Amino acid sequence: MAYIITDECIACGACMADCPVEAITEGDDKYVINAETCIDCGSCEASCPVGAPQAE
Ligand code: SF4
Ligand code: SF4
Repeated sequence: MAYIITDECIACGACMADCPVEAITEGDDKYVINAETCIDCGSCEASCPVGAPQAE
């Protein structure tokens, strides 16, 4: 299990700053989560202004 970032992402970067394990990086047109690193904490979902991170 890991979170994924949907196409709703507006690339604001808020989630990346709040991820405790640095699983989030800036992708080409949205931010992306490394499923190997994500610990499913839900912090990115809470910090995102548009609800882009979703639990898979
Ligand atoms: Fe990082 Fe937690 Fe979001 Fe996973 S759920 S990407 S560990 S903030
Ligand atoms: Fe994208 Fe939401 Fe992360 Fe901002 S906080 S970069 S909109 S997923």
